[in-house]
Amino acid sequence: MKLPVTIAGGGLAGLSLGIALRLRGVNVTIHEASVYPRHRVCGEFLSGITDEALERLGIRNALNTAVPLRTACWSNGTKILGEMTVSGRGISRWKLDDLLQRQFTALGGNLVTQSRIQPAPGVIWAAGRPKNPSEWLGLKCHFRDLPLTHDLEMMLGTSGYVGLARIEDGMVNVCGLFKRQQISGARGHELLIAYLRAGGLFSLVERLESSAAIEESFTGVAGFTFGNSGEIPFSIGDAACIIPPFTGNGMSMALESSDYALQSVLNYADRSCSWDEASRTSSQKQKQQFRRRMAVASLIHPLLTSCAGLGVVRSLASAGLLPYKTLHHLLR
Ligand SMILES: Cc1cc2nc3c(=O)[nH]c(=O)nc-3n(C[C@H](O)[C@H](O)[C@H](O)COP(=O)(O)OP(=O)(O)OC[C@H]3O[C@@H](n4cnc5c(N)ncnc54)[C@H](O)[C@@H]3O)c2cc1C
Repeated sequence: MKLPVTIAGGGLAGLSLGIALRLRGVNVTIHEASVYPRHRVCGEFLSGITDEALERLGIRNALNTAVPLRTACWSNGTKILGEMTVSGRGISRWKLDDLLQRQFTALGGNLVTQSRIQPAPGVIWAAGRPKNPSEWLGLKCHFRDLPLTHDLEMMLGTSGYVGLARIEDGMVNVCGLFKRQQISGARGHELLIAYLRAGGLFSLVERLESSAAIEESFTGVAGFTFGNSGEIPFSIGDAACIIPPFTGNGMSMALESSDYALQSVLNYADRSCSWDEASRTSSQKQKQQFRRRMAVASLIHPLLTSCAGLGVVRSLASAGLLPYKTLHHLLR
């Protein structure tokens, strides 16, 4: 008889690990603080995870309904700084997390929603970004009737950056990371627009004002930082480390971290190693696998979010000196 497993957090990391464990006969309980479906602040551009990893986790089918994203560009809102081909998927977290929670429960997993639990020995910590005081604010909203030049448009403003990604049903997700400012009187998608205007992205503001915001999809999040966050043993996903969002790699890392944790959890469930040992091997593997992309991302992020850095990026881009392909590779 295998030992049962408890997971805190039913986001991508927790649900994918829960599904993979259920497929291998482990009894799993996931405690999720919220309910499904729900919108989350996320660019909803998934890229990096391999089909083999998705197979191992048993979640490849859930991604069949995602929109394939092939073309991408970086711009300053008016001028394209660079274009590239990508291999990504666009799918809302509203849809993806809901598909995964349904799969988990259909496999006999025990999902307890509206249940916020505390870290404890024997609990895998997949509870997402830890709360930390910071200058960052993430805002997102879905739009209809918003034509795109590329499947993914990334734009650099003076106070942050924003991504526009095609997702299901012809919608476009607009999600930005901004330095917090005093902006009064704007709520919902108007707040997102106010931040874009404050960052000088006027042509994007015009485009958004001529399209239809889906107000109920608007969400915001503050109080998070980037880097390794894992003081809590047996953490996966954002609870272990948070990569800056311009990489479009956080969702992939949440899923990959489940894949890296899987064998350690199975060894624990089979009683062939202790909880502490399983936690240690899982954490080592994640650190090893994510070291390079975390290091590269932490070098580039300050360039994209400071006026001086933006100047450098724009000059390099104008001279055709930005190695998009190499950077894309190094960040995966
Ligand atoms: C502005 C922004 C844009 C982004 N854009 C992209 C992008 O385009 N592509 C990409 O790949 N990544 C992107 N990311 C990153 C991506 O969203 C995260 O890396 C990903 O959501 C991490 O998944 P997770 O399962 O670890 O955490 P989450 O998805 O945050 O899930 C954690 C879950 O735990 C629950 N929870 C929290 N505390 C508790 C508790 N105590 N007990 C029980 N449950 C709890 C929460 O309700 C939540 O459902 C972006 C992030 C930001 C901030």
